[in-house]
Amino acid sequence: MEQLNDLSDPQLIRKSIEAVLRLANTFKEQNGRVPVLMEVCGSHTMAFAKSGIKKRLKEHVRLIAGPGCPVCVTDQKSIDAMIKLTEGPKRIICTFGDMMRVPGSNFSLMEAKTEGKDIRVVYSPLDSIKIAEENPDQEVIFLGIGFETTIPILALTVHEAQKKELKNYSIWMTTKLVEPVLRVLLSSEDVNIDGFLLPGHVSVVMGKKNYEFLVEGFQMPGVITGFETIELLSGIYKILQLLIDKKVSIINDYKYVVKDEGNPVAQNLIKKYFDFHDEAWRGMSVISKSGLGFKREYAQFDAKRKFKVNVGEPRKTKCRCGEIIRGLITPEECVLFNKSCTPLRPIGPCMVSTEGTCAAYYQYMREV
Ligand code: SF4
Ligand code: SF4
Repeated sequence: MEQLNDLSDPQLIRKSIEAVLRLANTFKEQNGRVPVLMEVCGSHTMAFAKSGIKKRLKEHVRLIAGPGCPVCVTDQKSIDAMIKLTEGPKRIICTFGDMMRVPGSNFSLMEAKTEGKDIRVVYSPLDSIKIAEENPDQEVIFLGIGFETTIPILALTVHEAQKKELKNYSIWMTTKLVEPVLRVLLSSEDVNIDGFLLPGHVSVVMGKKNYEFLVEGFQMPGVITGFETIELLSGIYKILQLLIDKKVSIINDYKYVVKDEGNPVAQNLIKKYFDFHDEAWRGMSVISKSGLGFKREYAQFDAKRKFKVNVGEPRKTKCRCGEIIRGLITPEECVLFNKSCTPLRPIGPCMVSTEGTCAAYYQYMREV
């Protein structure tokens, strides 16, 4: 493919699609089937759907969505616990907008808010520090969801809270890490993937080296790619080329942003405040050391230590988000898709989140 000068040049995009289709045909001739690629990142899923690439390549390259949306991977019991957390006295709960509409067993945070709970949407965890300063007689709790991309900002927020000696501030950590979940996916029998399109933003923090385990442990190729249409096509092209040449490696196709070593400043900030914790993933139960929680010495900022919350087993629903985030089904295979589950009345997180697979299919790939 040609040098990427103008990322939105339609002629270049057309040529790139043709180049991808040529390689996809070669793969099919070699293997008797279409290649299956997983885009780990929720933003990639949305970009693939929005650009029309998913639809255009549908018969030639199977692009399946993975567990890369922080809202979608949060399990239902965690959502129930977050909603229960709002019930305590003198509490202000701060969260990202997407979390507000995710249904728990009985309620969403939005519904809890309409019932009078003080729940506020913030754009950055740092905004919640200001809220804590302005409300010294209230406990301010930030719901800390996110991947490696968001965790450095959470660490920075704790740093600020510590500097300001805030006694009424804590974070409910439910963060997730990409490597452990990819290991679990690749070890399970029902997941068949030829290669990964790897998340650009996570890689900025963790670096290309973070993915060496794919090659060493699983003989699995991957390409780190950006979010523009031409970058997405370039990512697919390069991974198909690797598969056809039977080469297993990780290509950094987002070099102007991602370094081999990642961002050491962000990594050190993470290490200072957090260590590995077990985390429950939607549809996958608990994965050992798949998230980060507070180190013991920062326990005063750990909302999970500060506030005891007990919830029972979540109510079972027909929502299949657990299978969606493992790439086992597409949204159309869920009987609720576009019927009882729509972005206006979502039943699962994959329809709520701006990075959710069901929301992407609903907006850009629905057959009407
Ligand atoms: S870059 Fe990372 S945090 Fe952003 S959507 Fe992708 S996986 Fe999620
Ligand atoms: S369509 Fe709705 S109910 Fe079905 S998997 Fe997606 S979010 Fe869950």
